[in-house]
Amino acid sequence: MKPDILESLQTHVLLSDGSIGTELQRMGLEAGANAELWNVDHPDSIKSLHRAYLEAGARLLTTNSFRGNRLALSQYGLEERADELNRAAAALAREAAAGEAWVMGSIGPFGGFLEPLGETRAEEVFDVFKKQARSLLAGGADLIIIETMTSAEEVDLAIRAAREAGAAVIFAMMTFAKARDGFRTLMGVSPQQAAEAMDHAGADVIGCNCGTELEMEDHEHIVRALRNFTSKPIIVQPNAGQPELVGTEIVYRRTPESMARKVANLVRSGASIVGGCCGTTPEHIRLFNEELKKLGAATGPADMRLDL
Ligand SMILES: [Zn+2]
Repeated sequence: MKPDILESLQTHVLLSDGSIGTELQRMGLEAGANAELWNVDHPDSIKSLHRAYLEAGARLLTTNSFRGNRLALSQYGLEERADELNRAAAALAREAAAGEAWVMGSIGPFGGFLEPLGETRAEEVFDVFKKQARSLLAGGADLIIIETMTSAEEVDLAIRAAREAGAAVIFAMMTFAKARDGFRTLMGVSPQQAAEAMDHAGADVIGCNCGTELEMEDHEHIVRALRNFTSKPIIVQPNAGQPELVGTEIVYRRTPESMARKVANLVRSGASIVGGCCGTTPEHIRLFNEELKKLGAATGPADMRLDL
């Protein structure tokens, strides 16, 4: 029986997994192809990736469903299979976790702009996120994680939709870039506005992920800024640097060693959950785990106490 995640976060720092998307590309997913289809076409590959992260020390596993909302799937003509693909995503992660990790049902952006900037109505986006969350929970997700959001309105919709779908625990993360006055999302949201939007919408854990141009130190700054405007636990999942095209391959240059050296600083800045985003691999997570252990943590949810 897994401990209650929110209770665990009061006394523990937890390690989540690294990237799913860039790892699937490394495993043969073609650029521009749909990743969620792998949940039914290559289930063993998905499970082995989850297992690799579990064995590296991750105690929170992310489902392969980042673009699994109906609107994003419609770009591939897969909207009719949304329920099937999300349920499969959660079931695979749950099977791989084998009771040793929590399963986070991943919800990414719907892939367009809300009215009046775009043509998509808020009610439709709410409904799409609610259905995705429901499918992920039905497939066995322990909680919902909302990722890579840049719009305060969209993250608000996603959090409220996940709650209405029955999620007992919701994590939400926004993605920042460097700006003249510090850090802003692409839609101009500051860390303060982000913390307030996610907190007020009812997320249980808030944070930041991705950000191609951000250094580990930038994430420290953002974590500290979020900390000033929320009392909720904070999650941070940095990228392994800027993606570079080498031949036909996309390469992320930041090494597991160079990132792991700075993981402790993310915790000292106020993060309760650390993991990785684009370009991070099971090797990154394994070294993150080593660093967290050095900080005083033992592995496993039962005894993962961090005394700082
Ligand atoms: Zn990313």
